[in-house]
Parts: sequence; structure tokens; C-alpha cells
Amino acid sequence: MQIKPVTAFSTLLKTIVVVSSPALFVLALFAVMGRLEFNYFIYGYMAAMLISAVFAVPFLSNISALTDYVNSLAQDQRVRAPDLSFLSNVGELSGALERLQRSWDNKRQAMETVITEREILVDTLPDILIMTNDDKVIVRTNRAARNIFGQNLAQRYLREVIPNEKLMNAIAVVTQDLRGQAIEFHVEEPMPCDFQAIIERFPIPSENGISIVITLTDITQQKRIQHMRADFVANASHEIRTPLASIIGFIETLRGPAKDDPAAREEFLKVMGEQAERMSKLVNDLLSLSKIEMNAHANPTSKVDLVRIVRSEKQHFEWACKQKNVNLILRLNDNLPPTKGEDEELAQVVRNLLGNAIKYTNADSDIIVTAKLTSVLPDDHLFRKLSRAICFSVEDQGEGIPKEHIPRLTERFYRVDSARTRKVGGTGLGLAIVKHVLNRHHGVMTIDSEVGKGSKFSVYLPIYDDLAQLEAEQKEFGVKAIM
Ligand code: ADP
Repeated sequence: MQIKPVTAFSTLLKTIVVVSSPALFVLALFAVMGRLEFNYFIYGYMAAMLISAVFAVPFLSNISALTDYVNSLAQDQRVRAPDLSFLSNVGELSGALERLQRSWDNKRQAMETVITEREILVDTLPDILIMTNDDKVIVRTNRAARNIFGQNLAQRYLREVIPNEKLMNAIAVVTQDLRGQAIEFHVEEPMPCDFQAIIERFPIPSENGISIVITLTDITQQKRIQHMRADFVANASHEIRTPLASIIGFIETLRGPAKDDPAAREEFLKVMGEQAERMSKLVNDLLSLSKIEMNAHANPTSKVDLVRIVRSEKQHFEWACKQKNVNLILRLNDNLPPTKGEDEELAQVVRNLLGNAIKYTNADSDIIVTAKLTSVLPDDHLFRKLSRAICFSVEDQGEGIPKEHIPRLTERFYRVDSARTRKVGGTGLGLAIVKHVLNRHHGVMTIDSEVGKGSKFSVYLPIYDDLAQLEAEQKEFGVKAIM
């Protein structure tokens, strides 16, 4: 910083006057006593002022340099300590100032580290964090918030970003009585999501104006699972209640109007037997599903020969095939390498697909069952890492499945034609079981179907050695799960 010349001159003048004042006093005394003529008095005083100036200038310039230096420090500028050789305790003063600057630097660095740490902490929080001022204008957000609601959130009204009345009302309550609020709300934009919000108020607004802190936890998945559970219980109860109601009805009829009618009794007992069978199948499928779900996170470890399983399962369907005059044609590669899995679960996959094909194919038709190695793989992130896999497929000549139903076939209790499915003894759980088993086995199922022609269900499973190698590689790189 430069000293203004006017200021510098007036300071210099003042200093000279002050420093030369003792000389002025002595000269004036001599003049009053008549020992000094007036013109000598003037010369003498001018000489005293000149000598004072010679001494004052370097001191003043040191003081001015010191003032500049302190001003620079006050403005957070990094400058070298000035040379203050005309001030007393010169070295000490410069040294003290330098130490002061270093201490400020250290403190600034420590504060910057704390701020950076806090920013990283806030940014890496999985929950969404939005901070607003008293006018509900967004002041700060974390990365999770920006990922969901967009990048440029600062200075926007919260209402614009999250237009939700429940949230706004909760904030209004928090603003008024300072007590935190916890609410749940749903938004449709930018995507349908359920959030749990915790809203807190700072007792006094922070330096940058933050007064309300909103933490949002995405509970969409949790809500979905809750709904699914409730739906599942409702569906399962409904499925069991229907045959149960029918059995109870028949029992009442047999006790009453049909008491002495042997023909009706025979007929009713037959239907009751079928309904009981249906209930038993349903309970078995429900148990299988829950068992598979319980083991969902435990990777199967055994080597499984799929061809052996197919041959063994085929035997269970001989009678059903005969009844419909269906021909099961096996095209199995006997040298198929093993897959990594659990025998009984993969047997359930084969059983359900063969069973469905026989149930839904036309009478007097062929079902082609294939087990082979293939390099034509489904578009799945695990199979993208593999060059080959085992493919097991079952192709029937039934009615086929309309396209719009295909994505939903693996949902529990989903049926294309409920009446028909019940008639052929389906529980609506077979393909859900297949999907869960395949998830656990890193497998994928594809469904190709043409209405009026038939359907082909293909299951892709990784080869034991390929999967083991992938798992070993991932372990080496510290990746936990393949899927
Ligand atoms: P279900 O025990 O009722 O057969 P699944 O879960 O095995 O239950 O199958 C779900 C639905 O998918 C069935 O109800 C049926 O409508 C349809 N489906 C399954 N396999 C076939 C197939 N091979 N041909 C035609 N439709 C099928």
C-alpha cells in the first residue's frame, strides 16, 4: 500500500515541528533575552528543522512500511515482512510480525481442513441434505440431493424443487415452535419416490443464512417391500381360502342335502380331493419359495450335472405326458460341464418348466427339451464377462403367451388366464420359484412366445469353472458379490 503524499507530508511536517520544538524553545529564550538577533533566530530554527527532517524521514518511512505490512496482513495478503532498520528492536518487531503471519497461516489451514472434511462428510452422506434460509431459499445441499433433484439447487425456492405441501407445512411448524419434525411424503417428480424427512431448525441462523436443515431418506424400496408383503399375504390367503371354502361347502352339502346320495358323494369327494391337492401344492410352493428366499444370500457351492437332473425329472412327467399324448423330446449334450449350484433347487427349475410346458401345450404335440453349451448369451452384466454358458430350454406347442404378459410372468400369483391355470392345477408360483433360484445361481431366464404357436423358456447358467474363476478374480480385487 502506498502512503498518500499529502498525508506523508503533513505527518513529516508535524514530526519536524515536534522534534525541533526543544531547539525552538532554546532559540526563543536567547532571542527574548536579547542575545540572539531575529534573523539568526530564524536561521537557527530552520537549521534545527532541517536536522529534524534528516532524522525523521527514515523513521517515518519505516512506520509507513509497517502500517502497510499490518494492513496487508489484515486483508489476508501474503507479503514479506518489511525492513524496519530505523525502528528500535528492529529484528524483534519483524520477527514477531512474521511469527504472527505464520500462526495465522496455520490457523487458516486448520480451518480450511475442517471445512473440507465437513464438506466431504456431508457430500458422502447417503441421505439427502438440504439447508434453507428463513425464506425457504436453498442455501446448501449435499451430493445426494443434487443427484436426485438436479445440480443447480442453490438460491432456488425449496417449494420449486420439492413441491410438496406436507413438507412445506412441516417446515412452517418447525419455523414457528422450533421443535424438529419427522414426516413421510411422496413425490412424483423427478421420479416417483417416498421420503422420510427430518426437519430441524437452527436456534439462530448460521453465518451464511442457514436456518432450516432437512434430511431426506429414500424409503421407496422399503415401502415397495411393505406393499409387496401385504399383497403377498393377501394373495396367499385368497389362494388358500378359495379351495378351503369349496371343501367346507361340499362337507355341508354331504352332511345335508346329499347325505343319502352315493353318486353325488363320490363326485363331491373327488372334487374335495382335488381342492385339497391344490392347497397342498400351494403350501409346498410357498414353503419352497420361503426356503429359497432364506438362502438367497448364500452362494451355492456344489458341482451340479444339469443333464442328469433333466433325465431324472423327466421320469416324473411320464404319466402326465401320456394323458395328453405329449412327446417329450430330449436333446441333451451328455458332455455338458457342471454348473455351480444346489441340486434340489435346480431340479425345481427343471420341474417347473417341464410341468408348465406339459400343462400349457396342446394335446398330441411335441415338447423339445435342450441342454447345451452356447456362446449366444443373454444381455446380462454377468454374462457379458463370459464367453459361453449352459443353456437349458423347454419349447412347447401350446397357445403361447401375449407379449404384454411376459415381463410379469415371474411375479408371485401372476397368471395369464386365471381360470385356465386353475383348471390345469397351477399355483401361480412356479415361475417365481424359478426366478428366485436363478437369482441365487447367477442364472438368467428368457421367454420367447408366439400366440397360437407356443413358448420357449430358456435358462442360462454359468459353467462351474468359469464362475469359480470370476469369483476368484473379484476376491483379488476386493469385490464382494458377482451380481
Ligand atoms: P402356474 O403354477 O400357474 O403355472 P407359473 O408361475 O408357473 O404358475 O406360471 C405363471 C403363468 O404363466 C401361468 O399361470 C401361465 O398363465 C403362464 N405360463 C407359464 N408357462 C407357460 C407356458 N409354457 N405356456 C403358456 N403359458 C405359460
